[in-house]
Amino acid sequence: MKTYTTSMNLNTQNTKAEGTIIRNCDTIRGCSNNCVSCYAKINSMKTEFHIPVEIQNYTGKVDPNALYRIGTVGDPATNWSHTESLIKSTGFKNFFCITKLQSVAGYTGLCNRLQVSVDPLNPEHFELTLNHVEYLLEFFPETQIILRIRSCASSTLWINILQRQAIDFAKKYNLTVLETRIRFRKKSDLKKYCICDKYYSFRKNFFRPHKGISFLKIDSPICDKFEKSCKGCLNCVNLWKEINNAQPYKKSA
Ligand code: SF4
Repeated sequence: MKTYTTSMNLNTQNTKAEGTIIRNCDTIRGCSNNCVSCYAKINSMKTEFHIPVEIQNYTGKVDPNALYRIGTVGDPATNWSHTESLIKSTGFKNFFCITKLQSVAGYTGLCNRLQVSVDPLNPEHFELTLNHVEYLLEFFPETQIILRIRSCASSTLWINILQRQAIDFAKKYNLTVLETRIRFRKKSDLKKYCICDKYYSFRKNFFRPHKGISFLKIDSPICDKFEKSCKGCLNCVNLWKEINNAQPYKKSA
């Protein structure tokens, strides 16, 4: 096992995003949130994933035609001050952050497009995430937020309640939802969270939901709905365009 280095190439794409304008990028690599079936953790098995390492320098130049997706194998909210100063010094223009938003300390609004991951498998994280979203809506109303609701088919009551709460929260604040269906690596996790396995099959090392299926059952886009990779989805590109003209949330008087 080794830890991440403090250097990162700016213009690598993972295979999923190949052929798109999306570039996967991080300001911090590794994460201590320890989410169930974390995609990044699973893909970082050779690395000490739980130890976040701050990127100090990028190799390569910012591609003005690319959309940088910051938060691929780490959470930019781990240290907003570091994230913001790195973004400023690098000169990113077209970017958004993916975050579980477990912290808003040091956030100044510079990262004004966020895809916030809401996790019904972790009640503590879930509550903190939504509290922080409310904080941003109140104090940084120009920040555009998409809720990435992690979804699954479970017979556990509290998981279903939290999924419902996330949907209601999005409705209350008029937030766009992107459903991200959880893939499970371990059979023990299927058992632990009472996952209804009739909706899943084991493909490419994961228990994956059947193609095209929605667990939230609302009219919202689904990440990689038909497993054709980002090229066949492009929600990360198109959703920002769609909400760009939408009015930011303003608290009613
Ligand atoms: S929403 Fe679409 S474009 Fe974004 S990560 Fe998922 S598959 Fe890729």
